Amino acid sequence: MVFSCMRVTRRDAGRACGTPKRASGLDRAVNDLVVKGRLFLPDGRIERGGFAVKGGRIVELGAHVSGARTADHGERLVVPGAIDPHVHFRDPGHPEKEDFGSGTRAAALGGVTTVLDMPNTVPPTFTREALEDKLARASAKACVDFGIHLGLDEKGDSLALLPEATSMKVYLGATTGNLLVRDMALVRRALEAAAAARRTVVFHAESQACLDAHADLLTDEYPTHATARPDRCEAEAIEALAHAADATGARVHIAHLSTAAGLATLARSFTAEVCPHHLLFDRDRLREGGRFKMNPPLRTPEDMQALWSALADGRIACLASDHAPHTPHEKATERARSCPAGVPGVQTLLPVLLPHRERVGLPRLLDASVAAARIFGLSRKGALAPGMDADFAVYDLDAPRPVRTAEMASRAGWTPFEGLAAVFPTHTYLRGAAVVEEGAFVGENVRGRFVKPE
Ligand SMILES: [Zn+2]
Repeated sequence: MVFSCMRVTRRDAGRACGTPKRASGLDRAVNDLVVKGRLFLPDGRIERGGFAVKGGRIVELGAHVSGARTADHGERLVVPGAIDPHVHFRDPGHPEKEDFGSGTRAAALGGVTTVLDMPNTVPPTFTREALEDKLARASAKACVDFGIHLGLDEKGDSLALLPEATSMKVYLGATTGNLLVRDMALVRRALEAAAAARRTVVFHAESQACLDAHADLLTDEYPTHATARPDRCEAEAIEALAHAADATGARVHIAHLSTAAGLATLARSFTAEVCPHHLLFDRDRLREGGRFKMNPPLRTPEDMQALWSALADGRIACLASDHAPHTPHEKATERARSCPAGVPGVQTLLPVLLPHRERVGLPRLLDASVAAARIFGLSRKGALAPGMDADFAVYDLDAPRPVRTAEMASRAGWTPFEGLAAVFPTHTYLRGAAVVEEGAFVGENVRGRFVKPE
C-alpha cells in the first residue's frame, strides 16, 4: 500500500495522508530505501514516520512507504543533514592542517552533509584557476557535498566568477590570510554583482579601523586578544554594511556573530550565524592559552546570553562552526600574538549543542542547523521532504557522551570542546548512501558534489 499524497508540500509534509491506495507491483519495488524513525519535519514538528528514497532523493513521506530496503531507527531522531556554511579546509595550502578528505570525514561524523568552504586558502579563491583547482580537489576527496565561497580581490576581478561559485566571502577585518577589504565602494560593487548573480555575500564583520584603534591593547598575554577586538568593532562593521547594502537588494549574511552590540545593529534584512564556541565559552577561557584564540574572540557572559536569546527567537537564523584547524604545536605557543586564530569544530557543530537543546527548543536548534540551505539558495538541501536530496542523520538523544580528541577526524588533532557532553549521530547519509553507520565512518566510496544556487 502507498498513501495517496505522493507529493507533499512543505506546509503539509508529515500530515496524515489521505486514503491509502493500492500500488502496482512495479511501484512497490522502485524505491531504493525506506527510512523510519522520529522525523524532524519541515513544519517543525517531530513525529514518528518514514520516507522513501529513490535515486538519492526523497520521493515520498508517510507511515506506509515501501522500498527495497528498510532502515528502521525506532525512537531515534532522524533529521536533515546539517549544513555548515563556514569551514576552512586549508585545501590547497596546508594539508598538514586539513584537506577536503579529512575535513568532510569530520563533517559526516558530526552529521553535517553539506559544507561551504572559505576562500582564504593558499592561493586564495580569487581566480578561475583557483576555483577550478579547489573544485577538482574537493570532487576527488569530499565525502559530503560542498559549496565554495569566492574571495573578493582588491580590484574586484573575481566578481565575474560569482555565477560559478556558491557565494562570496568578504573580510572587513584582518584575520588568517590576507583577504582584507577596506574599500567600501568595492564592497558596494560586490553587493550589486551578488544581487545580479543571486548569490549571498558573507561578511567577517569586524571593522578594521576599529581594530587598528585598539591595536595598542594587544600584548603577548592571551586575554588581551579579546580586549583588543572589542564588541564595538563588530557593531561598527555591521553598521557600515547596512549603509553599503542599502537598496542593492543583496543578501547579506554576517559570519560568526559574537556580541550583543553587533546583534543590536543587525539590519532586519541581514541574516547571521553563531558558532558553538561563542555560545559555550566566555573570554576568561583565553587565560588557558591559544586553544581559545579565534576571530572574533570569545566574549562576556552577557554576550553569550544575548546570542542564546537571539538563536531562540530566530534573530540568529543559523549555526556555523567556523572550523579553522591549526596544529597543536602552533596553538601551544606562550606568545599570544604569534598564535594563529581559529579552532576546529565541524564535527562538533550540532553534537555539542544538542545537550543544551532546552535553551532554544529542539525544533529551533534543528532548524538552525539547516537554515544555511535557505540563506544560500541550496534548494535541494535542508529538509526531509519529497524532491530533496536524501541527506540525513540519526541521533539517539538519550546517549550523550564526552567529546574526545581521539574520535575527532580533523587533522588538527585537538578540539576546544574536549570533555564536553555531546550527542554524535549514529548514522549519516548523503543522497541515500551511508557515510556513517553506528558511529563509524563507512563513506570511503561516497563522493560529495558541488552545490550552488540553481
Ligand atoms: Zn572563518
